[in-house]
Amino acid sequence: MQTSESRQLWLLVLLLAVAVILPTVCLLWFVSVAVKNERLAVRQRLVNFYTERAEKSFIEYPNSYWQEDKEKLSGSAQIPAKNFFRLFAIGEDSNYQGMVIYDVNGAIVYPVVETEQYFTDSDSVLEKIWETEYIEKDYVKAANAYGKLADGNDADLRAAALVGEARCLKKAGRLSEAAKACERLGWGENINKGDERLIADARLMQIQLYQATADPRFFESVEKIFENRFSDLSIRTAKKLFLLTESIEVAKNAGIAGRLTDLIRETENEISAEKISLDVAEILSNTYSAEQWSFERFRRLGSSQPVYIIGYNLGNRKVIGIVNQEKLSAFWKEAVEQIEDEMVFCRALDETDEIIAGTPEMWAGTRITLGRRFLNLDLGKFFPAWRVDLYFRGGVFTATAKRQQLIYFWTLALVIGSMVVVSSLVTRSIWQQIRLNKLKNDFIATVTHELKTPLSSMRVLVDTLLEGRYEGQQQVTEYLQLVSKENKRLSHLIDNFLTFSRMERNKQAFEFAEVRADKIAKAAAEAVSTKFNKENCKFTVTIDNNLPFIYADRDAMVTVLVNLLDNAYKYSQVNKQIELKVFAENSRVCFSVKDNGIGIGRRTLKKIFSKFYQADSSLARRAEGTGLGLSIVKFIVDAHKGTIEVESKPGQGSNFIVKIPIEK
Ligand code: ADP
Repeated sequence: MQTSESRQLWLLVLLLAVAVILPTVCLLWFVSVAVKNERLAVRQRLVNFYTERAEKSFIEYPNSYWQEDKEKLSGSAQIPAKNFFRLFAIGEDSNYQGMVIYDVNGAIVYPVVETEQYFTDSDSVLEKIWETEYIEKDYVKAANAYGKLADGNDADLRAAALVGEARCLKKAGRLSEAAKACERLGWGENINKGDERLIADARLMQIQLYQATADPRFFESVEKIFENRFSDLSIRTAKKLFLLTESIEVAKNAGIAGRLTDLIRETENEISAEKISLDVAEILSNTYSAEQWSFERFRRLGSSQPVYIIGYNLGNRKVIGIVNQEKLSAFWKEAVEQIEDEMVFCRALDETDEIIAGTPEMWAGTRITLGRRFLNLDLGKFFPAWRVDLYFRGGVFTATAKRQQLIYFWTLALVIGSMVVVSSLVTRSIWQQIRLNKLKNDFIATVTHELKTPLSSMRVLVDTLLEGRYEGQQQVTEYLQLVSKENKRLSHLIDNFLTFSRMERNKQAFEFAEVRADKIAKAAAEAVSTKFNKENCKFTVTIDNNLPFIYADRDAMVTVLVNLLDNAYKYSQVNKQIELKVFAENSRVCFSVKDNGIGIGRRTLKKIFSKFYQADSSLARRAEGTGLGLSIVKFIVDAHKGTIEVESKPGQGSNFIVKIPIEK
């Protein structure tokens, strides 16, 4: 019985294990594939996402910005080159640091480049005066001669004569008169355009003279130079820059710069714009001709201190814009900031592969050890050979994949966990079903077996009596006593069956009340007294005085003791010594039933409280029984929140101790 049951159990466990393991393996495989796919999908999603963003920040926005700028330039193409320059190449808001303007034929229009030597043709009249000035060193005479020449009708000589006059007056120490001559040349009318170089010199000399003579007109003359820096002169840029730089110097030395802050700042802006424009014009004249320009694309010029330029063909002129570096790099910096996050970093490169924006880790070396490049974008129309590289930072995918894997892992764990729970519940329920079946079978087998013996012995006795096969009244009485004994046994058996049945159906109801422990013991002793009242049986009952009340079902507790006493009787042989003791111990009342019988082995001890368990279950065994007695005892004791202990040694007897708590 036992082996077939355990085989059944193993089969069940095996079946359920397969039911769990097989799907688990499938799930694991599925998840590993899914994780791999997810990795790819995540990567693709990220690539798409960043590509879109990079296109916006690195291509769309910068290109549309410069497109707009180009349109602005085209719209103003008709205004004079000088004004055009002033409008677009100067000032903090300007997109350009400077500009070189060419005419349609590729000749530089602005800034004005020094192309030819500037000397007025020497003239015999002038040569004479130079003699007086430089050889005779008669400055007053020379000054007068220059003055006369200046007042004469020859406009070509006027500028040179005025310069000479001013110079000689200065040398003669007649400073204010010298200043007057400078005024005529610097700001007077009727001067040949070709002499604008001399005009610049005169203006500078004038303020120097005013300063030396502490002339009240000093301040306004300096101011005038700055204010008119654009409008009235078309002197060569180099000369103009000299005049303006020197004038700023004079203003600073004279301590009037503070009053001219704005003007000086504007002038300085202009100086730097023209300077850089001149530099670029020089480089371009060496390396480019206007025809060779590639228009409308940014390119790098120079290498040590590079500048970026862009060419526009505006119809009536061609323009090279020297791009404001800060403006240009602001685009890339902003774009980089918009793109970079904890997942990606990027770098932008110009057409010479120089990095123009990126993160520090990118600058550390030429080789990028962190991350993998996933995008290489051309920057579009205005920046055709420029590009931006986007990299995934090292470990990004592992992190994302880990997050994903964690989700999968937990889902898997949840699924497997619930599978295990469900299957163990199923196992339990099936196992209970199996046990219940077994219980039923055992019950039927036991009942029939146990009922058969008393019933058949009663039938034999009654039949004998009915057939009159007896000798004397004494035998009749004896037979009837036997019938009565069997009957009692039967009743006891049936009582046990009923209790067990109720117990199994959870229908056993207990009626708890305050009861006296001694009364229970006495009632039990009374119930077994006739059976124990034999010569070979010594039954002693010891009940301590002053036992506390216990909260119990009296009849149930009597059943417990009767079952234990019954067993003590059944499982001891000749010279039975049975002891029932009742005593209090640690707020519990203990009932101990001790015998000197066959005892119980250690292995058996664990099983005796199981339903239908009999140590010797052979039908031929001597003691009758159902294997239910102790399970009923245990059930009742548990219901009383008590405990039952067994001390037993084979061949020496057993001691069953039931402990019932006093408190509810
Ligand atoms: P049964 O109807 O067989 O007595 P029980 O549930 O009362 O069923 O007891 C279960 C088994 O425990 C018995 O078959 C017996 O082997 C063992 N047993 C119970 N009481 C004693 C005892 N006092 N001495 C030795 N064995 C005992």
